[in-house]
Amino acid sequence: MSRRRQIYEGKAKILYEGPEPGTIIQYFKDDATAFNALKKGTIQGKGVINNRISEYVFTRLNHIGVPNHFIRRLNMREQLVRQVEIIPIEVVVRNVAAGSISKRLGIPEGEMLPHTLIEYYYKDDALGDPMIAEEHIACFGWATNEEMQDISSMAIRVNDFMCGMFAAINIRLVDFKLEFGRIWDGDYSRVILADEISPDGCRLWDMTTGEKLDKDRFRRDLGGEEEAYQEVARRLGLLQDESGPTEVFDLSKHRKLRGK
Ligand code: C5P
Repeated sequence: MSRRRQIYEGKAKILYEGPEPGTIIQYFKDDATAFNALKKGTIQGKGVINNRISEYVFTRLNHIGVPNHFIRRLNMREQLVRQVEIIPIEVVVRNVAAGSISKRLGIPEGEMLPHTLIEYYYKDDALGDPMIAEEHIACFGWATNEEMQDISSMAIRVNDFMCGMFAAINIRLVDFKLEFGRIWDGDYSRVILADEISPDGCRLWDMTTGEKLDKDRFRRDLGGEEEAYQEVARRLGLLQDESGPTEVFDLSKHRKLRGK
């Protein structure tokens, strides 16, 4: 645990001041929320797994040239990231109909979309993150047209990369949410990928069985959310097979073992 100054506490993460200016520590909690925090709970060990999965994905995205805030993982639940000025837009990329698009437009869940869709939502809990058009983003100055071009091309690159990455472990990437932020260099800024990429913000379906391996297990009271998150991490090669996942990810047991 960090003893640094807390900057912000969100639904699934706490942000602390980093060791150097321009850095932040992201602490991953086990807390889970859904439906704009109307439903609250915990998924045991989720923070540890999301920290690892997000580290893995951001590192690989960095290797293919998608600029992002990740610097390094510090411990089981914390990672060091670059401080950004968050752009108040949630970028949702969809390959298959599910969730809100199925509800809103009556498209059956599981139907392949004719092509990949990018949607934008205004990040505002009090308003329930309403869906917006690019015109709203330009009109209210949330991001410039140039920034939106960078954001949409990065979102497509992330999607192409992650579709392949998950297909290789027999998982269909149905949809996911991204957040972006600005970093400043004097008067100039550029946009980089921020936040996290984990089963909290993605829909991941087993390609053979169709089983959900993401936060929909919690949202829809399906049960087995801990096992689902562990399964994604295991298939990505992030869990040592010889040590049972519950042993590794039971935080209280881990603290006892370490004498903390
Ligand atoms: O609910 P909806 O179908 O619009 O969600 C699309 C995708 O974006 C899902 O993978 C969901 O987990 C993610 N999402 C998110 N945070 C939000 C809204 C959606 O991670 N606030």
